[in-house]
Amino acid sequence: MMPEELSERKLPEDHEWQITEKVKETHDTYTYTLRPFSASQRFNFSIGQFVTLSAILKRPTASGGVEETTVNRAYSIASSPTRDFIELTIKEEKPYGYINPATGKSDAFAAYFNQQVKIGDRIKLKFNPVKEHFLWKVAAGIEKNVAYWSGANGAQSARCLMQYMEDKKDPEFNLILFYSNTKLSTENADSIIGDVEHHPIDSLNVIYYNWLIDIAKKLKNVKVIFTFTREQEIPTASKDAGIVFRKGRFFLNPDGSSERTLLKYGNNVQTSFNPICGSSAFINGTVRLPDGKINKGKGILQNLMELEGVKPEKTDKEQFYLQQVGAN
Ligand SMILES: Cc1cc2nc3c(=O)[nH]c(=O)nc-3n(C[C@H](O)[C@H](O)[C@H](O)COP(=O)(O)OP(=O)(O)OC[C@H]3O[C@@H](n4cnc5c(N)ncnc54)[C@H](O)[C@@H]3O)c2cc1C
Repeated sequence: MMPEELSERKLPEDHEWQITEKVKETHDTYTYTLRPFSASQRFNFSIGQFVTLSAILKRPTASGGVEETTVNRAYSIASSPTRDFIELTIKEEKPYGYINPATGKSDAFAAYFNQQVKIGDRIKLKFNPVKEHFLWKVAAGIEKNVAYWSGANGAQSARCLMQYMEDKKDPEFNLILFYSNTKLSTENADSIIGDVEHHPIDSLNVIYYNWLIDIAKKLKNVKVIFTFTREQEIPTASKDAGIVFRKGRFFLNPDGSSERTLLKYGNNVQTSFNPICGSSAFINGTVRLPDGKINKGKGILQNLMELEGVKPEKTDKEQFYLQQVGAN
């Protein structure tokens, strides 16, 4: 490599930001507001980008002790670049106390971060500005008719885009969020039936649920299609609220036949730009089996291309993690 190439390559920059708010989203998820600790720590970012958090966390060991280590994880920016703070939403995938059987150590981040980090704490974060990041075509204004497909953990960049639409008031933007979750509530299904209304946080299972209901009512060019894959009963939605509730997997009818979900609820199949965000299983059916082997299946990406005829250049993806079979 030439020395000049080396000097031109930018390394991710370190920043110090302070937590100014911590809001519970669901039983296992929090949203943090962070502000630069000093003006020099501020950086510009675009819709769809992420930061890497670095935190010193106390985690249990298999022998019953506690170990303090620096742990890093990536988080998509869940607030609009038009605002002077960033919001990050952190969901616990691995349960508190989970010990990796191979190493005998705790290797989770989120459960300990959510437990130990408080308002006022200073957090180190890295920002790595790559050119063709997730949603770069939306950030550049090339794509404005967006059908965003989110798994249970994956709507953060859609929230960033919704806030951006709220601030910019660009009438050409159109966003439909296709949002897949197992259940609305960790409680009995009976407790959630009824018209669209706010749901109590402690038993809520859907990140941003109340916020999404409000924003879909407020912004005419935002629609949310909630699907619940394990719910027997679902809430009812008023027609003009920009909200639809359905059951089962996207692209599947109750009788097992294929559904063209984008055609059914979308704005226009030809012009739709389709970002997909979530686990590998949600995006393209890829999972890691208990013996460590990788199994490839089909996910939203294949469904869009095979059932709806969506071209690869009209898709985009951000994978949060590789799904382990038997983990959830
Ligand atoms: C670019 C990018 C952006 C991201 N943005 C976000 C974001 O905005 N918000 C967010 O919450 N996450 C985001 N993530 C994922 C995030 O980095 C963490 O993986 C996530 O918060 C879960 O952290 P964890 O400590 O619980 O699990 P991790 O230690 O990170 O491990 C996740 C793994 O745990 C496995 N797992 C799940 N359940 C279990 C179980 N019961 N037992 C054992 N293993 C299990 C999963 O299959 C997955 O492979 C992003 C990742 C990337 C790469």
